Amino acid sequence: MNRHLLSVDDLERDDIERILGRAESFAEVSGREIKKVPTLRGRTVINLFYEASTRTSSSFEIAAKRLSADLVTVKAQGSSVDKGESLKDTVQTLTAYDPAAIVFRSPNAGAAGLVARWTSASVVNAGDGKHEHPTQALLDLYTLRRRAGHLEGLKVWIVGDVLHSRVARSNILAFGRMGCHVTVCGPPTLIPRGVESLGCDVRYDLDDLGDADVVYALRMQRERMTGSFVPSLREYASRYQIDGRRLGSAQLLMHPGPVNRGVELAAEVIDSPQALITNQVESGVVVRMAVLYELLAGGQGSPISAPDNETTEPQPA
Ligand code: ASP
Repeated sequence: MNRHLLSVDDLERDDIERILGRAESFAEVSGREIKKVPTLRGRTVINLFYEASTRTSSSFEIAAKRLSADLVTVKAQGSSVDKGESLKDTVQTLTAYDPAAIVFRSPNAGAAGLVARWTSASVVNAGDGKHEHPTQALLDLYTLRRRAGHLEGLKVWIVGDVLHSRVARSNILAFGRMGCHVTVCGPPTLIPRGVESLGCDVRYDLDDLGDADVVYALRMQRERMTGSFVPSLREYASRYQIDGRRLGSAQLLMHPGPVNRGVELAAEVIDSPQALITNQVESGVVVRMAVLYELLAGGQGSPISAPDNETTEPQPA
């Protein structure tokens, strides 16, 4: 595997299998009273976030701490970015601390790739504009495999604002790589032209939603919409909202969060037993532990379960 994780394209199927297996072994650590292993003791992880985040930033923080790394979190707001410092200068400044990894979020597509050129640290793309969010895709695979028992052959419908969604792009690639059949569905204005080339089918209505094993709803990304893509949110909801009528009792429901209640999802499905939304959040910690482990301490060909002295001998710190 690459030194950086910028895109799902950086991962072969074997890499994904290894990360999911590793996450399973870290789930055991998360079940203990002292949820800590010494794997990254003495290494520094910097979380550099230029865009709002709750789940991704908190789960990376918890993951780095559970691996005993020294963690520094820098949010653009309140940092020297407010004083006009450029991204390159900020990255070079932080690189002076010799971090092992920089976990980076940005509103700009491709920005994580730039950071990777300016630092000696491993860079993890924690979401760059509408480009990619590879660790979200990995935690979704992990969550779904745990619930469904397998991934191969599952029919996954990704519904909603595909155009502005980095999650959609990463997940089309990741689900496809693991043998799922992916269909994207939404209003024509919110489906990017040529998306089929990523390996998915396209639908513009929910008529055949019943075929899906998994319904993966996306948030309407209003902060990235510069024009008017749907006549109104009410109109959107009436045609595309996943509600108790549209979601079959055997179908699983996923959403990356944050949810716009009453827009892409109705309250009754968010709180239904089919919803994996909370499981997705929970998986974020172990999957991000596995990604940091893979980049900083693992490497190709390493065994799936973490070495004994790392998972069975927790070191309180
Ligand atoms: N939390 C996800 C992301 O950062 C999904 C979303 O914001 O809608 O891309």
